[in-house]
Formats: sequence, structure tokens, C-alpha cells
Amino acid sequence: MPDTQNDAGLAMETVQFSLPVGEISLRASAQLPVGRTTLTQLLPILQNLENVIVDKVGEEARSAGKRISCRAGCGACCRQMAPVSLFEAEALSAWMGSLPEVRRTELEQRFQRALSALRDAGVMEKLLAGDWALDEERTTQLAIDYFHAGVACPFLEEESCSIHPMRPLSCREYLVTSPPELCRDPSAHEVSGVRLPMKLSRALYAFGQEMTEDARGWIPLVFLVAWGRRGATPGEYVAGSGREVLRAFLERAATVSASAND
Ligand code: SF4
Repeated sequence: MPDTQNDAGLAMETVQFSLPVGEISLRASAQLPVGRTTLTQLLPILQNLENVIVDKVGEEARSAGKRISCRAGCGACCRQMAPVSLFEAEALSAWMGSLPEVRRTELEQRFQRALSALRDAGVMEKLLAGDWALDEERTTQLAIDYFHAGVACPFLEEESCSIHPMRPLSCREYLVTSPPELCRDPSAHEVSGVRLPMKLSRALYAFGQEMTEDARGWIPLVFLVAWGRRGATPGEYVAGSGREVLRAFLERAATVSASAND
């Protein structure tokens, strides 16, 4: 029996679940639709789950006498090539489509300027040759070239993320304990990244790899607007009741995490 209805009149149920994260089993509950749901529609639940993992890691860092340096107003890392899963790209594209025209146009122009700047810096050609993802050395070099191009994420405003509640999982997972100024050039300075016991983004990429047979299963965020014009709906790839989709995601997250630790 459904527990309740949400504001849109959809029947919802409370689902208890657990996820092995490092040494512990994370227990949580979520309100999920009883009816047909796509993986993309489940993103707010996954974002909350990622926040819990990140908070836990932050607490552990504090207990070890360290401090997470990442703060609003420091957007140094937002000049890196941010990966976005196809499901997050679908959600962000839909959100951009719902914006008032003036705001949407402003954002689309920023994406266009970012693409032009990457082209002028000679990075676009390498980015478009998608086979770089097959080679770790080329991937690292591309990430360095991208960062050195100094092209800010189009969602960065006054050095803060303007889509903070919806930002991709990959952005949530990037945490450092070294001084923020070192992030201005991570290829030249030793930045102390925080190791997460599990990165939920990897499960989304694994679904993306499976459905597109692409080596990455994600797109660089700077391609969001161009990708959105295709009108793709990857979330349909993993659909069912909310409970079924969450179970499929959690199983994939546990598998990906286990193989990452092999
Ligand atoms: S989405 Fe937000 S956090 Fe991620 S790179 Fe862009 S501005 Fe930074």
C-alpha cells in the first residue's frame, strides 16, 4: 500500500535500504514513487545519498585533524573538465529548458563562449577525438590541457556554483584538504585529494557505458547544451517502480565499488 501522495498527486512509498560504503553499511530511507520511475527521476535521492557519504568523509577528515578546504566562493576546481553522467545531463537539460528565456539564453551563450575558448586553446580538437578515454596517459594530458585553458564552467558565477543543489555527483566528490590556492594549478602543485570509500557517479557512468558502448559513459559538462539538443532520454534505460530502480542502482554501485577496490 502506498504511504502517501506527493504534491503532484503521485502515490509514494517509504523504502528502507542499505549500501555498503567502505567499512560500514549505510542505512537510509527514501520516499519513492510507486509507479513507473526512471533513473533520471531518482537523481535527487542519489544526490542526497552522495551528500551523506561526503559528510561522513568530512567528519573522518576532521577526526584525523584535517579540514576539507572546499568552500563556496572557491571555484578553482570549476575550471577542470567536469564529467556529467548522461542521466544528470538529461535532468540538467530539462531544467535549463524550463528556465525563463532570458536566463536560458544567457546560460546557452556562456556554454557557446566556453566551447569557443576551448577551441581557441586547441583543446576542442582533442576533446572531440573521443578515443582519448581509452588511454590513461592521453586522458591525464587532456585534463591538464583543459585546466590550463582556464575555461570556467558555464554554471560558475562569482566563483560559486549557480546550480549547487543540482550539481553533478562528480563535483560533489571532488574534495581536498590542501590549501585552496594549490587548486589553481593541480598539475604543478601537490593537491591533497580526499579518497571517498565509494563514488556514486561511477555507477551512473557504468550504466552510461552499457547503454552507449562508449568507453566513458559520461560527457564533459561543457557539452551539455549541444548534447541536450538531441532530446535523448537515457533515464528510460533503467525504469520501473521507484523501488526497482533504486535497487538496480544500489546493486550497480556496490559492484562498481567492489571492482574499483580489486
Ligand atoms: S557544476 Fe558547479 S561545481 Fe560543477 S564545475 Fe560547474 S560550477 Fe563547479
